[in-house]
Amino acid sequence: MFVVLLGPPGAGKGTQAQRLTTSTGLLHLSTGDMFRENVREGTELGVLAQTYMDRGELVPDEVTIKMLLERIARPDAAEGTMFDGFPRNIVQATALDEALRARGDLINHALLIAVSDEELVARLGGRWLCRSCGAVYHERNDPPIKEGICDKCQGELYQRDDDSPDVVRTRLEKMKPPADLIEHYREAHVLSEIDGERALDSVTADLLEALR
Ligand code: AMP
Repeated sequence: MFVVLLGPPGAGKGTQAQRLTTSTGLLHLSTGDMFRENVREGTELGVLAQTYMDRGELVPDEVTIKMLLERIARPDAAEGTMFDGFPRNIVQATALDEALRARGDLINHALLIAVSDEELVARLGGRWLCRSCGAVYHERNDPPIKEGICDKCQGELYQRDDDSPDVVRTRLEKMKPPADLIEHYREAHVLSEIDGERALDSVTADLLEALR
């Protein structure tokens, strides 16, 4: 089963992907996480990606698609994958479709988590991530037990540079799933739209229901 998770930044894609992959056993692939890992390790790809990420812009398709296709060619992605943060546009979606088709697979579900702009700005400001294990928390919706410390691994929590208000607004404009991308999956009859402005558990339940 191959699933794409669509939604604007702050819709809860990362959090929901972690929950869904725990209950479904699918591999979780986040292009944002892959870029951040490259930045941390100081790779050539990381140095390039950072210039775009710092501005709240998309990393060029050529680079992103190459990274993603190399990753899904590995054996652990053979059975099923949940894509989080990819595709971001129709060029990326087409590249993914073609790569999957070439091996007899296809996207079975596209789950769109819908959230209003006002809610997104409020949310993005309150997001904290664990430096060690990548777990995601939120000051208001999903706080850690101890401020600044990860519940799961006791790692240090931090806020992403691209969660600052100015960068958030740019990201919202540039990073919303474009209409033609949503249409692409609607036409393929795999799109489910889920109201993301509710408690985390309700959203997870609806997403799981859509996958059934
Ligand atoms: P995310 O964690 O999904 O919010 O991604 C963080 C940053 O990584 C984005 O702001 C982009 O700069 C970059 N990025 C992640 N996924 C993609 C993608 N599919 N295409 C281009 N850039 C991406």
